[in-house]
Amino acid sequence: MSLQQSQIVERKKKLSCSFLGHQLEVVKNYKHGQNEYCCKWCKNQFTDTDSGKPGFLTPKLHRINIALEKIYYRKMRMS
Ligand SMILES: [Zn+2]
Repeated sequence: MSLQQSQIVERKKKLSCSFLGHQLEVVKNYKHGQNEYCCKWCKNQFTDTDSGKPGFLTPKLHRINIALEKIYYRKMRMS
């Protein structure tokens, strides 16, 4: 596939996201109830947010997820 062709494919994938929504697959299932997702088409990463809808996974949100996971396991050990 030429570079130009692959660019067109990339653009189509992104278009399908804006029209049809992202095709999210769970990539990380946290015990504390938040999941991380990856879009099959645009490869963007998402996580559950307070609003209940998946939002973009920022490095900050990723750190929070990991921290919550640690707290969860600490609680489990103590109980
Ligand atoms: Zn997408």
